[in-house]
Amino acid sequence: MPQCAVCGKTLAEQLMEEEIERDGETYYVCCPNCQDDFQESPEQYA
Ligand SMILES: [Zn+2]
Repeated sequence: MPQCAVCGKTLAEQLMEEEIERDGETYYVCCPNCQDDFQESPEQYA
């Protein structure tokens, strides 16, 4: 089961808010806040 790349929360499929493609990998985040954090410093989370 995927986890939020930022906060580590396990994501049920229906809770996968955002998908982020980076370097050919797909990351998931649980909320817009985590998406912002990911995109501010992706090297920290990817
Ligand atoms: Zn999160």
